Amino acid sequence: MTAKRLTVLGSTGSIGTNTLDIVRQFPDKFQVTALSCHNRIQKIHEQIEEFQPQSVCVGSEENAQWLKARLPSPRPEILSGTEGLIQLASNRNADLVVAGIVGAAGLRSTYAAIENGRNIALANKETMVLAGELIMAKAKQTGSLIFPADSEHNAIYQSLIGHQRSDIEKIILTASGGPFRDTPLEAFQDITLDEALNHPNWEMGSKITIDSATMMNKGLEIIEARWLFDIPVSQIEPVIHRESIVHSLVEYTDGSFIAQMGLPDMRTPIAFCLAYPDRLPLEGPKMKMSELGKLHFAPVPFEKFPCLSLAITAANLEGAAPAVLNGANEAAVAAYLDGKIHFMDIARIISEIMEQFELKKMQHDEQFPFLNKIETIEDALDADQWGRQIAQSSLTGE
Ligand code: MG
Repeated sequence: MTAKRLTVLGSTGSIGTNTLDIVRQFPDKFQVTALSCHNRIQKIHEQIEEFQPQSVCVGSEENAQWLKARLPSPRPEILSGTEGLIQLASNRNADLVVAGIVGAAGLRSTYAAIENGRNIALANKETMVLAGELIMAKAKQTGSLIFPADSEHNAIYQSLIGHQRSDIEKIILTASGGPFRDTPLEAFQDITLDEALNHPNWEMGSKITIDSATMMNKGLEIIEARWLFDIPVSQIEPVIHRESIVHSLVEYTDGSFIAQMGLPDMRTPIAFCLAYPDRLPLEGPKMKMSELGKLHFAPVPFEKFPCLSLAITAANLEGAAPAVLNGANEAAVAAYLDGKIHFMDIARIISEIMEQFELKKMQHDEQFPFLNKIETIEDALDADQWGRQIAQSSLTGE
């Protein structure tokens, strides 16, 4: 068997490093052909020396020069910036592109890989949130297979294998509830940044950790599931499951529930994406059913997590609404991580932006055609940018 050739976009982030961990365990099965990062160049420098890719892309020309000065020849091709990233993602030498770039920044590169018919391990949920309809249509056209690396969607994907879509009653998306699932609503005003960054079950990047604390993450995942599995939002139900063992379920019309379970370790869904249809004998702690004890499931306390309701509303509106929501959320979370706003301001800001969006949409303002119709990836990015900018100006009080 020849090794599967991988392009890892966002190789220094949480998805990227976990992917490379798996590659390190199975050097005969995988070969890294390309790596990219934004600005953690020390780290990508080490990765280049270890995995010897043919191409690399970094965020800026300055970073590219830094690497060129330190890598002995023959060194890999070193690209930079958005154009470089698209070139890297489009490369047909890769059998699978791991899309691990966080935020809207990952959309163009993921789309480029799909346009070129590459199979994708999709960890960048913003891709589906911003432009799910366009992405799925393009993948259908080019034959690109999209394997979700997000644990919940990976669980759903696994639970759908061998079943018919028409037999689905509901998709049940489990949510840990984050660090504040047991915090009473009255105490939300005292939440600190350190508490928000301390996720009980998963170790992830800071943006997604805050999204878990507000449960916006689950909202984005509902939008992602809607497009990935071509299912109406009304058939997707979020449920609190504090142990993060059942990663999600599919309920079928005959009353059967099919679930995928496992320890909360991102390497399991990533390994599934990398090896499909094979399974990898992953190293590390294994779940023991006899020691699991109780698993808990409970309704989502929506009153504590307004971000989730905002996302569901945006999902139902479709069009530009999810992209605007995403942009507003990214701006609000960035301000929160900078210590500029309080935890509860995140939802308040997004809610304001969504109200402004609906007003603008009704006005059919010719300056912002993308608010009424998303026809291209650029429209989706414009809508995201619009949400981000309005949020930013509301944050600086302009
Ligand atoms: Mg998830």
